[in-house]
Amino acid sequence: MISVEEALARITGAFAPLPGETVSLNEALGRVLAEDVAARVTQPPADVSAMDGYAVRAQDVAQVPVTLSVAGYIPAGGSAGDMLGPGEAARIFTGAPLPAGADAIVIQENTETEDSGVKVLETVTQGRYVRPAGLDFRAGDIGIAAGHRLSSRDVGLAAAMNVPWLKVHRRPRIAILATGDEVVLPGEPIGPSQIVSSNGFSLAAFVTACGGIPIHLGIAPDDRAALGSLAEDAKGADLLVTSGGVSVGERDMVRAALGDKGLAVDFWKIAMRPGKPLLFGHVGATPILGLPGNPVSSLVCAALFLRPAMAVMLGLGQAPAEIETALLGAGLPANDKRQDYLRARLGKDSDGRRIATPFERQDSSMLATLARADCLIVRPPLAQAARAGDKVTIVPFQGGILTI
Ligand code: AMP
Ligand code: MG
Repeated sequence: MISVEEALARITGAFAPLPGETVSLNEALGRVLAEDVAARVTQPPADVSAMDGYAVRAQDVAQVPVTLSVAGYIPAGGSAGDMLGPGEAARIFTGAPLPAGADAIVIQENTETEDSGVKVLETVTQGRYVRPAGLDFRAGDIGIAAGHRLSSRDVGLAAAMNVPWLKVHRRPRIAILATGDEVVLPGEPIGPSQIVSSNGFSLAAFVTACGGIPIHLGIAPDDRAALGSLAEDAKGADLLVTSGGVSVGERDMVRAALGDKGLAVDFWKIAMRPGKPLLFGHVGATPILGLPGNPVSSLVCAALFLRPAMAVMLGLGQAPAEIETALLGAGLPANDKRQDYLRARLGKDSDGRRIATPFERQDSSMLATLARADCLIVRPPLAQAARAGDKVTIVPFQGGILTI
């Protein structure tokens, strides 16, 4: 049995960023940049007005009220026109370029129109309501760095930088094979001792949520030859994930079936709960992650190991896990030598402190409690008994590893 840390290091160390592909802005959300994006324009392209009003020379309105003659009319997208002379103003609108000579904007609310021009009622300082050229960014500036996952804000920034095509890492293709004579697809005829397969669906959804492309290989029976031949359909995928059949029972066929295909095992067991049996290895060039069959084990292991593997393939790198903490809402007994991940709900006490309360029953078949949980409480190997109010490490789902 190896530790969670070592398993994680071995898994992430076995992957590399996938090659880049070019996508349009409309396809870019959530993708990870494969190269820096530099601005192709300067924004704003010239000194422009931030308000509707009048472009003036600040020194002309040092004493108010004062009436200036209106020498120009500059809408957004219009030309700045002639240089502004002393005693002159130009009607101007938000986003329009300032005429040469002007150095401030008087907002229209602080003016009155007169036959002879515009009466300015308030003074302004130099630069007031002027957006200087390049205020946002300049041509050549790196606006978004390689390795960044694109948000809607980034998509907008790339558009503003006049970059309509972006080079992003290809999405990892993750083949998913459920196993078990007892599991059937939802909607299929179901025998009295059969159960509906949840793992294929939760894992596929998880892969999608992480930015990958799931490939459903279906359900393999607990039969060495049949399982092995279904696993062959994973050829060309970036990773084959299996669920179930990876423990020590004589009906657990994954290792034997893949062994027939030349499986090279990296490791097979991790000192953690849920999820002791977890296989990592390769068949030829295809990496294999054999997840345990219990629905909670399978998803928790996906969160802890599949997601980081995908992060490397996506070009996100090996971000160190963020350590978050909460106070225990209930006492916990001492832990044995396996690292424990307990499903828990998050709440706040009257001082606004975060409280994590574990579910009383932690059986790894109980998917409903995983669906309702807000986080996992991490109990290191050999942790001492803990009391309500003690600080514990948590892995939050919201905004974290099992958000979706
Ligand atoms: P196994 O590791 O194959 O012994 O499976 C452990 C437990 O997980 C058994 O109770 C299985 O019925 C259950 N299980 C295996 N595969 C799935 C699946 N795809 N969906 C839901 N439960 C499963
Ligand atoms: Mg099984």
